[in-house]
Amino acid sequence: MNHNTTTPHPDVPTMRAATVATITAHDCERWVCVCGNTPHSSGFCMIDSNGDDTAHAPERWVEPLYKCDGCGHVIDAATYDDTTHTVAVVGRLPRRAH
Ligand SMILES: [Zn+2]
Repeated sequence: MNHNTTTPHPDVPTMRAATVATITAHDCERWVCVCGNTPHSSGFCMIDSNGDDTAHAPERWVEPLYKCDGCGHVIDAATYDDTTHTVAVVGRLPRRAH
C-alpha cells in the first residue's frame, strides 16, 4: 500500500476536516445532513475509524461512526444530544468514485 504524505487527520489519513461541527438530529437515528441527506434518501453507512465501509465486516465497527452517502461527512452517533438535537460531525471523507 502506498502512504499519503499529507495526513490532516493523524488517525485517519483519508479524513479531511468537516465543513460543519454538527448536523440536525431529530432523534438518535433521524439525522439531516448539511447536504440534505436523511436516512431515507441516500442514507448513512457504517464505517470504521479508517473510513472503510463495515457493512460486510461488522466486527470492525467498534465506534458508532457513519458516513453520509450524500457528501461524505462522518458522523459520530455517540455524540447525539437530545437537548440541542444535534450530532457531531467529526470529519469528511471523499465520496467513492463510482
Ligand atoms: Zn451529507
